[in-house]
Amino acid sequence: MTVTPYALFRAAVVRTSQVTPHLRRITFAGPDLAGIVSAGLDQRIKLFFPLAGQDEPVVPEGENWYTEFRALPDDVRPAMRTYTVRDFRPGELELDVDVVLHGDTGPGSSWAGRASAGDRMAILAPDARHTPIVGYEFKQPADTAWTLVAGDETALPAITAIVESLPAGARVLAFVEVDSLAEITPMSSAADVSLTWLSRAGKPAVGGGLLREAIERTTFPDGKPYAWLAGESSAITDLRRHLVNARGIDKELVYFSGYWLLGSAIE
Ligand SMILES: Cc1cc2nc3c(=O)[nH]c(=O)nc-3n(C[C@H](O)[C@H](O)[C@H](O)COP(=O)(O)OP(=O)(O)OC[C@H]3O[C@@H](n4cnc5c(N)ncnc54)[C@H](O)[C@@H]3O)c2cc1C
Repeated sequence: MTVTPYALFRAAVVRTSQVTPHLRRITFAGPDLAGIVSAGLDQRIKLFFPLAGQDEPVVPEGENWYTEFRALPDDVRPAMRTYTVRDFRPGELELDVDVVLHGDTGPGSSWAGRASAGDRMAILAPDARHTPIVGYEFKQPADTAWTLVAGDETALPAITAIVESLPAGARVLAFVEVDSLAEITPMSSAADVSLTWLSRAGKPAVGGGLLREAIERTTFPDGKPYAWLAGESSAITDLRRHLVNARGIDKELVYFSGYWLLGSAIE
């Protein structure tokens, strides 16, 4: 049997906690999680949300699962969305995912808002038997002089892990756009971190320019940077353009990812 970089695992919710008004931590557990590996930081996984009336998401098993999944009828096939591993505890076979509650418009947000212990989940995650581990992007060169991390609340799990991983002596500028200052969560790091929280003051997340405006006003340190940007797609693309075109940062040193797209559902 071929070992693929990602494989399907089954788990159940064991507990949930409201981290902030708009961020809900879902903890999954189960024996299947022994097969998962996480490279940490911005490790991405996919979750499958059961449709109304289903006890668990219908996801085919086996090597051809994806083709079979695509062929499922619309009233059977679960919605698939991408999330970040907030924490994986292999010893306890527990995995945390922090889900942004942005209303009932999306299957992910609405499922997370209602999730409770016992709810069944299918998780597409890196298979521990496969090397190398795939599905993570924070790859800072060793000679980086300073790091810029920026994103909205969907990137907060990754940003927190990145900031917390950076060692003493590292210089970090971090910018996080959130719904309101009630969304602030603690971040501890041995690094020299300047962390700026940007509040939308309850206004809808419209992929606006809060991050760009704040970064435009910022004087960057000297030396070779590495930038990691994630959040609403148009805001992040715009921010990347600013860094590369206006601030002259080498585009190879800017990782950027549209984590969601205003007005569209993306898998
Ligand atoms: C690599 C990667 C890692 C990610 N990690 C996380 C994570 O750890 N936690 C997390 O919560 N999200 C994360 N996301 C983002 C998440 O996949 C999207 O927000 C996704 O659209 C949520 O699915 P949904 O079913 O709730 O909404 P969808 O069905 O996809 O969208 C429905 C509507 O809601 C809007 N929408 C989607 N997300 C938001 C939002 N955050 N705020 C306001 N409106 C929104 C869409 O524009 C659309 O109009 C990640 C995305 C990627 C690509």
